[in-house]
Amino acid sequence: MIEDGRVAVVTGGGRGIGRAVAVRLANEGANVAITYRSNDASAEEVAEEVRAAGALCEIFKGDVASPEDVDALFKGVGEALGQVEILVNNAGLTRDNLMMRMKEREFDEVLRTNLKGTYLCTRAALRPMLRARWGRIVNVSSVVGLVGNAGQANYAASKAGIIGFTKSVAREVAQRGITANVVAPGYVETELTRNLTEEVKNQIRGQVPAGRFAEAEEVAEVVAFLAGEGAGYVTGQTVAVDGGMTMQ
Ligand code: NDP
Repeated sequence: MIEDGRVAVVTGGGRGIGRAVAVRLANEGANVAITYRSNDASAEEVAEEVRAAGALCEIFKGDVASPEDVDALFKGVGEALGQVEILVNNAGLTRDNLMMRMKEREFDEVLRTNLKGTYLCTRAALRPMLRARWGRIVNVSSVVGLVGNAGQANYAASKAGIIGFTKSVAREVAQRGITANVVAPGYVETELTRNLTEEVKNQIRGQVPAGRFAEAEEVAEVVAFLAGEGAGYVTGQTVAVDGGMTMQ
């Protein structure tokens, strides 16, 4: 459960996993700010869905990897909803290529959005959390950050980076009532995976003990737990939501 009226920011909340997280947090009682980069119509739709759940919702357009945009975002959230108490760093993208063909631009873009974006938003959110001596940070990584994936060296580096980053932040703020954890989804039905061919999708299903992709809501369920009041003694952890794919 989330205390009524807590203020949550979900980056990349305009669709996919972020959308499910925003709606879920609203259903738990939080007011929600969602950020997105370009898709206005989709973000507006999510805002309506969040409001229909009885929560306040504001949308903010901007690049999570731009310090100016992130400053404006947190200032805007503070003015519209109050100081942020829950941060879900979910915005992310892929630019896949085999290592020998991977362009510097593809490497930089993925690291910049996925890892630097997480750093900038965390830094901005921590100040009010430290003052309030309460906060929940949930960073969305991927099983690819745990086990790697051919064609995704840039993405794997960014997602593994998020895990080390989160553990370090968790250690720094553990005594101030703030937790930082990672959710590592396996393959989820979203636009990010929509372009995979049916053949590749079937290959993937064959590697998943559950035999299927996840629904975004199944990831949101775990995010909501980690963002909740009851998860105060869980920090620095990585929870895989992957149908058993990476169990050891
Ligand atoms: P989608 O591509 O469906 O949505 C990504 C969201 O992030 C969109 O709202 C997009 O905005 C936003 N976004 C992208 N780049 C930026 C940026 N630079 N600044 C601000 N917002 C940005 O992705 P998913 O929902 O599938 O993925 C969400 C997270 O989950 C990502 O971090 C991804 O790596 C991770 N993940 C996904 C898996 C999957 O199978 N789908 C598996 C494991 C992890 P806009 O709509 O405006 O473009």
